[in-house]
Amino acid sequence: MAKLYEGKPLPFKESLIGISDKTMALHHDILYMGYVKKKNEIADALEGFEKGEKDLAGANQTYSELRALKDGETFATNGVYLHEYYFNVLGSDGKASGALLDALIEKFGSLENFAAYFKACGMAARGWAVLAWDTHEAALKVYTGDAHNQGGVWGAIPVITLDVYEHAYFIDYGSDRKAYIEDYMKNLNWVAANVVFEAARLVKR
Ligand code: FE
Repeated sequence: MAKLYEGKPLPFKESLIGISDKTMALHHDILYMGYVKKKNEIADALEGFEKGEKDLAGANQTYSELRALKDGETFATNGVYLHEYYFNVLGSDGKASGALLDALIEKFGSLENFAAYFKACGMAARGWAVLAWDTHEAALKVYTGDAHNQGGVWGAIPVITLDVYEHAYFIDYGSDRKAYIEDYMKNLNWVAANVVFEAARLVKR
């Protein structure tokens, strides 16, 4: 058995503005925990390949068991991590603060400029919009992804992560993603985001 990855509890107990408890329960308990389960299943299946017990010669880019597992591995693992980043910066009052606020003003000219750009990126993406510390550029960047394993940039550390899949908002907002993103910003935990940013910006390549 591969080492078990344990799902994390929601880091906040309070109800959010706009985003219902029902949505959060489904999102965390069913969808997120489902990715954790699959991540563990895939890790178990890959262990045989890692330890030389399964045939590596059949590896093939069109179809092979190893290919299917490797594709599932990045989908499930990013599904777990991206949701953890998302939950980690929710559950507070949305009041921008700290070194992260200073850095955003420096880069974007104002907090309003950043918020407008970030929200638009959330409208432009099919899965994720992520404010990240790009360790190669040593700069804050907003990257987007259309699936858990598409569009991400290696070497970028997520600081503020926005889930724009329909499951994140459809129960509460119908197709009004814009209203969901507005409320997401109101629930942001800038203290938690600053903890990540302060550590991330020390990493420079
Ligand atoms: Fe999600």
